[in-house]
Formats: sequence, structure tokens, C-alpha cells
Amino acid sequence: MADRHVVIVGAGPAGLLLAVYLLKRPGYRVSVFEQRADPRLTPQVQNRTFPISLQERGQQALRSISGLEQAVADRSTVCNGTIMHQASGKSRAIPRKMSSLMIDRLQMVMVLLQFLSDQYSSDQLVIQFNCRCTHLNSAAQTLQFEQPDGEVITHTYDVVVGADGARSKLREALVEQVNFPCEQTLIPDAYKSVFLTQPEDGAPLAVDKVHTLNLPNNVRMMLVPQGNTQLNGVLVFKRDHSPIAQYNTKEEILAFVQENFPRFGALMTLDEADALLSRPVANVTTVRCQRFHEGSNILLIGDAVHAVSASIGQGCNSALQDVWVFNQLLDQHQDNWSQTLPAFSDQRIPEVHALRELSDYSFPRNKLLVTEFILRLQLGRILNRWFPKRFPPFLFDLIFDSDLPYSEVLKIHQGWINKVKASTR
Ligand SMILES: Cc1cc2nc3c(=O)[nH]c(=O)nc-3n(C[C@H](O)[C@H](O)[C@H](O)COP(=O)(O)OP(=O)(O)OC[C@H]3O[C@@H](n4cnc5c(N)ncnc54)[C@H](O)[C@@H]3O)c2cc1C
Repeated sequence: MADRHVVIVGAGPAGLLLAVYLLKRPGYRVSVFEQRADPRLTPQVQNRTFPISLQERGQQALRSISGLEQAVADRSTVCNGTIMHQASGKSRAIPRKMSSLMIDRLQMVMVLLQFLSDQYSSDQLVIQFNCRCTHLNSAAQTLQFEQPDGEVITHTYDVVVGADGARSKLREALVEQVNFPCEQTLIPDAYKSVFLTQPEDGAPLAVDKVHTLNLPNNVRMMLVPQGNTQLNGVLVFKRDHSPIAQYNTKEEILAFVQENFPRFGALMTLDEADALLSRPVANVTTVRCQRFHEGSNILLIGDAVHAVSASIGQGCNSALQDVWVFNQLLDQHQDNWSQTLPAFSDQRIPEVHALRELSDYSFPRNKLLVTEFILRLQLGRILNRWFPKRFPPFLFDLIFDSDLPYSEVLKIHQGWINKVKASTR
């Protein structure tokens, strides 16, 4: 029997990991189409990347492929907690039981690309960059792609997977063509990427911790160490309320960061202040769909079908978990995609809808609830240690230090989530 040809749109973490899993199975040929250039051949464009923290759910999906978790770990920094800084210079450490792998999104993509190209020949795998998917014709089973010179190419598929991120073209086509049940929302938070360098002779900010500092008005900076000298992160603020929009010079930007984020500002150079000034503001789109497939040959995974806010850093973990679950379902249904696709929607929808609630409402927005949150964290951990049967682990400990299904985590902490939700109305 001829190999099944799967076309994957989007060479992000989800699309590339799916290619790895499918090619491990007998009887598959995979083509991946990516709108951007090959990141291995182009200089790193800093404003398009940001650090991703991977915990057990994401790591588990990498671990099942021999050598892959290690390859990602080799390019990651291991972090075992967060330090919440204050503008006054004080700080509070929040340790984690299990460590997270911190890896830049682009680095993770490059590891996956290298892994694939080391193992598979062009008979089994084709990855085409600079190919932007513009049309899906589900009746004819064709896809159209546009190249940078304007040339349009058409490809046929047996099965197509949309792994093309939060602004998925495939999802958009399905919404237009078959009224695919899905809603897309622009969340109130927007961000600019930040890149800082620590001195070689001793890092003032611990290199095994995530660093955050919250200001009033929902402005915050989060920095993640990458190796011993680099800190990559984001300045987050309410959309259309950038705290630096009023400044026109790099000197003003530097002065703002040094005054409001003193520990971070001490590491900022005038060049980085200049880059921050001109870097575009990135808006975050969330996606909520009522199914993840259409018919027996169209599947959506990752951000394309369940993008969430980055507030608790689970988007990529859950995107990788999609692939891991999908692979298990292919096993269960002997690669019968007509059975596997609806089974995948049934299994994943309650999980990613729960994740959406957790992402939107785990972290409180007002000052009073932040104080309650810290009290719950401290008291909750003590009570859980003493009376584990009566007091479940703290919410963030379940999100970051366990692989409990998101729906279970939500059930256990629904009261807190409802409280935060009510405070936002
Ligand atoms: C600031 C920030 C911090 C984050 N931190 C974390 C974190 O700590 N932990 C975590 O788990 N998650 C985090 N996330 C979320 C995480 O980045 C995403 O969930 C993850 O990248 C999703 O992977 P994906 O492969 O589904 O989509 P993407 O990473 O968006 O990849 C989609 C790919 O498809 C390509 N594409 C798009 N349209 C087309 C088209 N028409 N044709 C061809 N190709 C196309 C894109 O160029 C891209 O390469 C964060 C997100 C942000 C914004």
C-alpha cells in the first residue's frame, strides 16, 4: 500500500513534533510548509522570539522520542523557581519542586528541524520554507501556497494538519467554508520582547530562576535566563497602554526601565533601549474551538486550535501534549484517521478548555487578590505538607510540578478561579 501523505502547515513546535511522531510510524510521508525562512539559515530576528518554559506535560511529549528531550535540554537553561522583584529592591523567592526547561522558541524549532533532517531523507520528509498557505479547498483536497516572489503553488493532500499558530489560515478557511465552530479573541495584554546580557564575571540575577517584577496598571516584566549571560523576556502591558509609548529616545526608555525595574535596568544597554523602542508591540490572540477536526482528513493542533494567554506559560506544553495524545490515539485506532480524529477532539477539548480558564484566571489582577494569592501559596504549601489528604497542592504547584490533567486541576481549584474571574468583571 502507498504511504499516506500528510501535509503539515506550520513549522512551529507542534507541527515539527507531529512530523517526528508520524515519521516514526510505518507508512507515512510528510510535507511541512512554513511561511517564514529557514531559521537555521537566517540571522536570528529577536523581535519574533521569546523564552518558553517546558514542564512535565511538554517534556513528556519530547521524552517519548529517543534523544529528543536531551537535544532540547542541551539548548535550554534549567530553572527551579521564580524571584518576584519589587521596585524598592526587595524580592521574594518562590521555589519549585520540579525544574523547568527554559528554551527560546526559535531554538526549540531549530532543534526539531535538525532532529528531523538528521534522520529522514527527502523521500520521507520535505520541509518547504517561504511558503505561506493562502487557500484550502477541502472538496478537491488541495492547498495553495504563496512564495515571496509571488509565485503560487498548489499541493494535494491525503490528510492536512493545521499547525499554523493562533492566526491559522487553515482554521480561518474552515470557519468560512464549513462554519467551523470557533471563536477568536484579542486578549487585553500585549507585549514587547526584551533581551538583556549579564556580565561574564558574575551574574547579578540568578541564572536558575525566572525573574518578574509587577508594576501597577498591569505592567510587568518577566525575564528568563538563557545560559549564564543572557536574559530573554517580555515587557507586558495592557493593549494600547504601552508604558513606553510616550517616549521617543533611547535615553528616555533606559531611564524608564532603570527607574521602574531597577535590577533589570542595571543590565540594559543604550543599544537594547533603542531596540526596545523600535521593536513592534505584539498582540496576543486566544482561540477556543468546539472541535479540532473536520471530516476524516483535516486536523488542527496547538495554537491553531487552542491558543491561550501566556500568563501561566502552558501554550507550548499543551501543544506538544496534543501530539503525544494524538500519537497514542493513532496506536489505539490502528492509524484509522476517521476514528482517531473525533477521538482526539473528544479527549482534548475538555483539557484545553480547562487550560483556557486556568490561563485567564489563575493569576490575580488586583492588589488585594495578589496578597491573598501569596498567602494561599505560603499557607497552602504548609497545609498540604502536613495534611496532604485534606489540603490539595497549591494551584501553581499542580500546573507546574505535575502532569495532572488541566481539567482535574481546574476542578480542584475552581473556587479560586471563580474568585479571580469575578474580580475582573
Ligand atoms: C510572550 C510569550 C511567552 C510564552 N511563554 C510560554 C511558556 O513559557 N510556556 C509555554 O508552554 N508556552 C508559552 N507561550 C506559548 C507558545 O509560544 C505557543 O503556545 C507555541 O509556540 C505554540 O506552538 P504551535 O506550533 O502551535 O504554534 P506557533 O509556535 O505559533 O507556530 C506556528 C507556525 O506556523 C507558521 N505559519 C503561520 N501561518 C502560516 C501559513 N499561513 N502558512 C505557513 N506557515 C504558517 C508560523 O510562521 C509558525 O512558524 C508563550 C507565548 C508568548 C507569546
